[in-house]
Amino acid sequence: MIKNIFLLIFLSLNSIVFAQQTAVDFQKLKGKISLHPEEKTVEGKLSYTFQILEKTDSIFLDGKNMKVKLSENSSLQADLKSTDDKIWIFHDFKPEKTYTLDFSYQVKNPKQALYFIGWENNENPQIWSQGQGKDNSYWLPSIDDLNEKIIFDLSYEIPKNYTAIGNGKLIHHQQKEETEIWRYKMSKPMSSYLVAVAVGNFDFKTLKSSSGIPIELYYQQKDSNFVEPTYRFTKEIFDFLEKEIGVDYPWENYKQIPVRDFLYGGMENTTSTIFAETLLTDSIAFVDQNYVKTNAHELAHQWFGNLITEKSSADHWLQEGFATYYALLAEKEIFGEDYFYHKLFESAEKLKEESDKGKGESLLNPKAGYSTFYEKGAWALHILKEEIGEKNFKTGIKNYLLKYKFQNVSVEDFIKEMEKSSEKDLSNFTENWLKQSAFQADEALASLKKSDFIKKYIETIALRKIDFEEKHEFLNQALDFPINQYIAEEVVFQLAEKNLTKKHIKLYKKAFDSNDIYVRQAIAKSVDKIPLELKSDYESLLKDDSYLTQEIALANLWMNFPKKRNQYLNTLKNTTGFYNKNIRILWLTLSLATPEYFPEKKQVFYEELAQYTSKI
Ligand SMILES: [Zn+2]
Repeated sequence: MIKNIFLLIFLSLNSIVFAQQTAVDFQKLKGKISLHPEEKTVEGKLSYTFQILEKTDSIFLDGKNMKVKLSENSSLQADLKSTDDKIWIFHDFKPEKTYTLDFSYQVKNPKQALYFIGWENNENPQIWSQGQGKDNSYWLPSIDDLNEKIIFDLSYEIPKNYTAIGNGKLIHHQQKEETEIWRYKMSKPMSSYLVAVAVGNFDFKTLKSSSGIPIELYYQQKDSNFVEPTYRFTKEIFDFLEKEIGVDYPWENYKQIPVRDFLYGGMENTTSTIFAETLLTDSIAFVDQNYVKTNAHELAHQWFGNLITEKSSADHWLQEGFATYYALLAEKEIFGEDYFYHKLFESAEKLKEESDKGKGESLLNPKAGYSTFYEKGAWALHILKEEIGEKNFKTGIKNYLLKYKFQNVSVEDFIKEMEKSSEKDLSNFTENWLKQSAFQADEALASLKKSDFIKKYIETIALRKIDFEEKHEFLNQALDFPINQYIAEEVVFQLAEKNLTKKHIKLYKKAFDSNDIYVRQAIAKSVDKIPLELKSDYESLLKDDSYLTQEIALANLWMNFPKKRNQYLNTLKNTTGFYNKNIRILWLTLSLATPEYFPEKKQVFYEELAQYTSKI
């Protein structure tokens, strides 16, 4: 899962301790679930198959505020009783016996985990679920404990003319008078938090991985312009991860579904990643914010999290650290080695800063936060690979996945496999990178310095405190063709001083002329008071193919040169910007604040702006 940072502050999602049942092994769930958006009600008929491991007179399913009723034809005639959070099944259960229980259930307006959106006013209606951290047992009688893996076969009955997407393969689709039934079947077991359903007005395009796995890319008709740039590199990422991980993709297909008002960036439900539609990008937006990282991160979870699942929250590194690391490797494949090292550098800086403040956390701390599980987690894998060598690392990963597939794992299980493949004692690594709360900044720096680019980048950063005259020649050379984007950006940031000399202006002009979209963006970001000598260069930023650059440039030019406000506004009057309409919203705000700009249209501007901002 890629999380929204703000939510993380409030929720410590993975620290919930589940009550484990040892007397029973749930194996299969077959069911039909009717979703009634008007009443926000869920009704289902379920058939649970389970094996009793030791004699007991009761077992339970997790199910919150559910009404349940035993089916007359249930082969197991047990007593059912629902409490606030459980469905108890009472029976004189015999060991080593397999039972099938049939029952129906109903939940009204689930408090969490299943959301009905936009049905009241028929505005782009959708239904979607979010199981991780928001237990699916709010809408589906299931097992909150991650250690219980079940084969799911679920049919969804939904209003007619909508599409339902679930886990696994679509094996049946039936149109009825007012509803449709979509049946999705898995062939392998998984934990209940990975069950998902999404319902909406969706179309999809299909790709095929080199290994033959169908990949379905969902979108809404209104968003068809966003399909290619959003899903760009999907096949490359898929093929790369299969090869890099060394184990075949474990499921029958893969689907990605953008939904509205999603709580997170993306969630790796097995075979069906759901992600926030705000991540949809067009070709211009792609340069500033693209879906590549989330695309790779959620896909990597299909192995790390879904095929093998953490035993407890103390093992969360095995999911988020791995997904983050493998996504970074996929990004390296696409955006190059400097990109990769720059990302590692940035995360090392952040981790060091937190660690220096005494806020470092152990990767084994079940309550650790985002930067620990995700970023320090990725760093730990980078260091481990360097320590034992790429070949041993890959062999270890492969053995580990194959040995524990469709099971649960602990950090100890992983380390044992890596020790086996490398024939090395990893207790130092375990101590320094997993147990230690402090970030091993020196070791990280030594690793980063293996990149010549990083060495030069660090030299450039070291000039921040040096007097301009002294470093002028170095800065000048860094802007010579061909530039390195990251170093040139750093140079531009260092040019931003109170008193600009002719030499500063000359270097700014050189940076403008580099025609590198990111270097020019660095100018947009760092120059507040625009010198007259740079006015026309700065104005040219309004035409750069970057919504971020355009947004900053428009705001800044409007502030700096009041006489030309109408002209600047005219330049971007037809530009919307990112999916969140950043430019349109700024444009409307500035138009309202410019009395002489279309005075007769102020009311129209105001109404349009109110319509966007009320949703934010
Ligand atoms: Zn994740």
